[in-house]
Amino acid sequence: MPPNSCGSCRRCCQGTLVRARASDIERWQKEQRYDIIICLKTWIDNSTFLMHKNGKDECVFLTENGCDIYETRPEICREFPKTQERVDEFKCLLDWKTHEPKE
Ligand code: SF4
Ligand code: SF4
Repeated sequence: MPPNSCGSCRRCCQGTLVRARASDIERWQKEQRYDIIICLKTWIDNSTFLMHKNGKDECVFLTENGCDIYETRPEICREFPKTQERVDEFKCLLDWKTHEPKE
């Protein structure tokens, strides 16, 4: 979710399961971002970590101004949309290859 390119769109932060990888958690440990780590929950096999959601089925770090942890957001958020299928599914405003707004 690059906030400038995304405008007011928040679709990929809403109603989705946002996974944190081991590399994200290692980074947050180095950065001492325990405020993020405590917002993870385990899923299914105890080795998959998801960001908590708020009462509106949104990622708990989504604010009116965009991502509250943008500088250290999960890798999966940096990579989004990654494929044309994801663009179509989320009606994403960005080109999946360049992450720039579509023409
Ligand atoms: S961490 Fe940030 S970019 Fe990722 S889903 Fe949450 S609010 Fe969106
Ligand atoms: S769906 Fe696309 S345009 Fe919308 S917030 Fe996510 S990355 Fe940005």
